[in-house]
Amino acid sequence: MDEKCLLIRGGTVWTADRRNPRAEAVLVRGERILAVGSSAEVQNHECARGAQTLDLAGETVIPGMTDAHLHLLYYSKQRAGVSLFETKSLAEALQALRDAAAGTRPGDWIHGVRYNDAYWAENRAPTRHDLDAAGIDRPILLTRVCTHVQVANSAALAASGIPEDQWGDGILLETEVAPVLKAMEAWRSETGRTLGMIEEACRDFAGFGVTEIQTCSASGYGLADDLAPFQRLRLERRLPVRVVLYEDRMPQWNVMSGLGDDWIRYGGFKLFLDGSLGGRTAALGAPYADDPSTCGLLNHEEGALMATVKEAHKRGLQMLIHAIGDRALDQAIRAVEAAYAEGPCPCGLPHRINHVMICRPDQLEALKKLGVVLDVQPAFVPSEISMATARLGEERIPWSYPWKSFVDSGLVVTGSSDCPVEPPSPWRGVWGAVCRVGDDGKPEEGWQPHQKLTLDEALELWTVNGAVAVGEGGRRGRIAPGYLADLAILDRDIFKADPMDLREVKARLTLAGGYVTHGELPGWPAF
Ligand SMILES: [Zn+2]
Repeated sequence: MDEKCLLIRGGTVWTADRRNPRAEAVLVRGERILAVGSSAEVQNHECARGAQTLDLAGETVIPGMTDAHLHLLYYSKQRAGVSLFETKSLAEALQALRDAAAGTRPGDWIHGVRYNDAYWAENRAPTRHDLDAAGIDRPILLTRVCTHVQVANSAALAASGIPEDQWGDGILLETEVAPVLKAMEAWRSETGRTLGMIEEACRDFAGFGVTEIQTCSASGYGLADDLAPFQRLRLERRLPVRVVLYEDRMPQWNVMSGLGDDWIRYGGFKLFLDGSLGGRTAALGAPYADDPSTCGLLNHEEGALMATVKEAHKRGLQMLIHAIGDRALDQAIRAVEAAYAEGPCPCGLPHRINHVMICRPDQLEALKKLGVVLDVQPAFVPSEISMATARLGEERIPWSYPWKSFVDSGLVVTGSSDCPVEPPSPWRGVWGAVCRVGDDGKPEEGWQPHQKLTLDEALELWTVNGAVAVGEGGRRGRIAPGYLADLAILDRDIFKADPMDLREVKARLTLAGGYVTHGELPGWPAF
């Protein structure tokens, strides 16, 4: 990039710097921020003369946002499918598939996603025969909203090399779908679709002001992420977000967390200690309130887990530990304690605990001693208030989703979407953290209102803290001189907006490393 300067003024600048949280103007040169301050200060900077100027009408400018936990490749596949989430009947779903097939060529696959037969008028699972009778001469795969059940038509089963005498009703449970997914992926890759799907998925994030995604492979669940597609996009100057990848396998070669550059880097090792609250597989310390026969499950035998954790730690891998229930969190605490008993991690990064949905006060004290990063998903509150209340019962609710307690603890707390579990917009999470209400706006005062965050606190989760979590707090996540020019110019003044409207916020313009990654800025370089 040549060293042209860009002066952004007329907006409200939120810097994520607690000593100087507000400013009026920003000056960018090349990939970095040159100056930030009052309009007069910045305009008097020697480089402001002759700079290209972007005049705002009061909109807020914030540091580019980091989504600290999501599954990008999985999201890219889901968004490329035909969403059947809103369909009210199998007949309506089949019509949606016919409409989608209309613009395709012979041999193209049709992937229907997020159907829920429990909501269908027919109230039964779709079968291969339903799909075969729909008059669509294409391989078809339907993936249920839970992702554990899929249905293929005869053309898809044939294209997957499955012998005809094994086709049955075409319903595929769990890993039975593997050969069909493989055949569909081969078609996507051969027809050059995969990279475009990933690029578009990344652009969705840029459209909300996100400049970095910390994406996570869940290969054990058939949801692997890879670095190579991002590298290819980068080479073609089509990568609109910075990418950090966490892998749920230990690397085969001796590499430490942090390998890479400002755009693509290896994050570390992801471990799943338990499942989900919705599926009652999160490991709780006491039985589920709505099913006293179970406390959920721990995925790992204690001794084997401790050995794995110590090895990862000694190898210099930052660990990202999935723990939802309080019993899983107890195990995570023991694991991180065991790791630090071996000495500091050679990568120099703190370990991370992901989700942390239930955290007793004594556990928070232990976490403070360990100095871990807590990765939370505030968008879960609007989605899960009633489910969580049913699963946990009144007694545990006061220490569930306790983000204000986390922020007040002084630990680094990041914000994320867990996309595609939640949509890609970080603003649904900011809104969830600030308002703590359901999608229906209830309860009006907020659910556990003492755990609400201020807007400034919520923004820190998605800006400075996401950068600090990967050791980049001195380079990204703030609007400060010398920092990389990652900026989100929003579509409104978020500090004057009704907090309930925060969920609607979009970026008008997003810059990553000085390049426009979303929106229009004529005369300025873009990816
Ligand atoms: Zn996840």
